[in-house]
Amino acid sequence: MAELDQAQENQKSVKKYTIEHDRPNCIGCAACAAVAPDFWIMHEDGKSDIVGCKTRDDEWEELDVEEKDFRINKEAADSCPVNVIHLVNKETGEKII
Ligand code: SF4
Repeated sequence: MAELDQAQENQKSVKKYTIEHDRPNCIGCAACAAVAPDFWIMHEDGKSDIVGCKTRDDEWEELDVEEKDFRINKEAADSCPVNVIHLVNKETGEKII
C-alpha cells in the first residue's frame, strides 16, 4: 500500500509541461508577475524572469512544471500582450500556447 501511495505521489509530481519565455522579446509589462508571482518576477533590467529557470544560449528561459502548475502559467501566458510565454506538453511535444 505504501508503495502504491508513493507511486501515485511520483505520478503527481511528474514535470509534464515546459514553460518557455522568449525573453529577448519581452517588453517588461509585468503582467505575468502580477498573475503568477510564484513563477514570474521582474528583473532590474525591466524584463521578467521565470523563477528558478535555466537560460538557453538564445536567451530564452525554460522551466519544467507539474500538472498542478499548468493553469496559473497558462493564465500568465494568456496575459502576455506580446505572446512571448509558451507552454509545451513534454510528452506529446504539443505547443499549447
Ligand atoms: S507578460 Fe509578457 S511582455 Fe509582460 S513582462 Fe511578462 S513575459 Fe514580458
